[in-house]
Amino acid sequence: MQLPLPKRRIKLTPYPSLLPVRRDLMSGKLQLTTLVQQYLDNIASTRHLNAYIEVFATEALARAKALDEKRLSDPEGIGPLHGMVISIKDNICYEGHIASAGSRIIENYTAIYSATAIERVLAADAIIIGRTNCDEFGMGSTNEHSWYGPVRNPVDPERIPGGSSGGAAVAVATGTCLAALGSDTGGSIRQPAAFCGILGLKPTYGCISRHGLIAYGSSFDQIGILAQHTTDIEALLEVMAGPDEFDATAHEQQVDLGQPGIDKAKIAYFGTAFYHERIDPEIQQESLRFMEKLRAQGHELVEVPFEYLDYIIPAYYVLTTAEASSNLSRYDGVRFGYRAAGATTLKEMYVRTRTEGFGKEVKRRIMLGTYVLSAGYYDAYYTKAQQVRRLIRDRTLEILQDFDFILMPVSPVPPWKLGEKTADPVANYLADIYTVQANMAGIPALAFPVGKTSTGLPIGIQLMSKPFTEGQLLHFVGQHAYTTP
Ligand code: GLN
Repeated sequence: MQLPLPKRRIKLTPYPSLLPVRRDLMSGKLQLTTLVQQYLDNIASTRHLNAYIEVFATEALARAKALDEKRLSDPEGIGPLHGMVISIKDNICYEGHIASAGSRIIENYTAIYSATAIERVLAADAIIIGRTNCDEFGMGSTNEHSWYGPVRNPVDPERIPGGSSGGAAVAVATGTCLAALGSDTGGSIRQPAAFCGILGLKPTYGCISRHGLIAYGSSFDQIGILAQHTTDIEALLEVMAGPDEFDATAHEQQVDLGQPGIDKAKIAYFGTAFYHERIDPEIQQESLRFMEKLRAQGHELVEVPFEYLDYIIPAYYVLTTAEASSNLSRYDGVRFGYRAAGATTLKEMYVRTRTEGFGKEVKRRIMLGTYVLSAGYYDAYYTKAQQVRRLIRDRTLEILQDFDFILMPVSPVPPWKLGEKTADPVANYLADIYTVQANMAGIPALAFPVGKTSTGLPIGIQLMSKPFTEGQLLHFVGQHAYTTP
């Protein structure tokens, strides 16, 4: 007989942010080896949530020891991320470690180089504790589409944690690391952050190099950060952001981290979003309450028209499946990854490898993407969706010329039960309605907790801002909108 899974309260991390960690390390009250061991203990006690695919225990402890020695012998020489223990999503390459993107097809793929983001955080003294579970190739919003099984929400293990960076969100929310690196193509950082009651930033497209991030939809994908505190997101962003010779889309322009926050902000919101027919009443209520709180602080909130909301999802799923069908054509069983046994011809080997190696959702998207790119349908779907994307981007940037931020819900509904929407993929896709705009427009978006449902499930909200204004966004949220409990 299967025992019911325990309902647990979200545990606080031993430390909510890097600042107190640093203080205690510098005063000698804390050792990194002790801190890493605490995180490892928390990983062990939250195994049932399935957040980690692999834990780098021995390695993380050895690195902690080396960094403890470095701090003692040369306190001035420690890196800006000294004390920062992070997890990485399974689609980010870390040399010598498996990066499988939650997929069987590259289950045993050992990265032969590290992502630029990983190289930079390591050079700044961060410790990587393990790789986290996710939807296969980042395709999903529930973390049910992983070869390694579903991840569970710490507040209610019968429910999804969100996705695709579900493991990353659970890892932070259960105090198994201070921050997590995830990726966001259409909401994969912000939606699980909202479902687990933490913060999640999707940076501007081109802010952090994608070199070493396993591709899903390359014109949308961005590495980003999940944490409990805006200052930790900022510290990691500062280290990872900037141009990179291995990614031509990693922009020369630097993020504005030195800028002070805005005291009286002008914030736009869309009536079509907050009064949408599919928004959950409790999410609507908490969002409206939050808007009143901002108004009471003296910020200006203005409803502006945005007529494209219901076109966002169709356009996004045409474009990302098209990009995915192209990106995933490299997994053919020839040079690396899974190869089906027993095939007698090359074609049979391809077909069986891809049939056995990819999960159902990934196959669905490859087929959709191949269809919209096919000669007869290219103009009707792909070209049309590109035009819609341009309209959405232009209108979004136009609004941001008059406003500092755009306020949006993160998800129309609270975290649902595992298996609840499995039979209806479109229902899953529609739940991305509020997160995809930021990826379509390439702008930064930060999700943060705003309240809870009557049953205690976390509710998040997000602010979007102009390209490369992550500093302003983080400072505003840290000063006016959300304080870590
Ligand atoms: N849920 C969206 C999708 O399935 C977003 C995923 C993501 O951001 N990687 O495409």
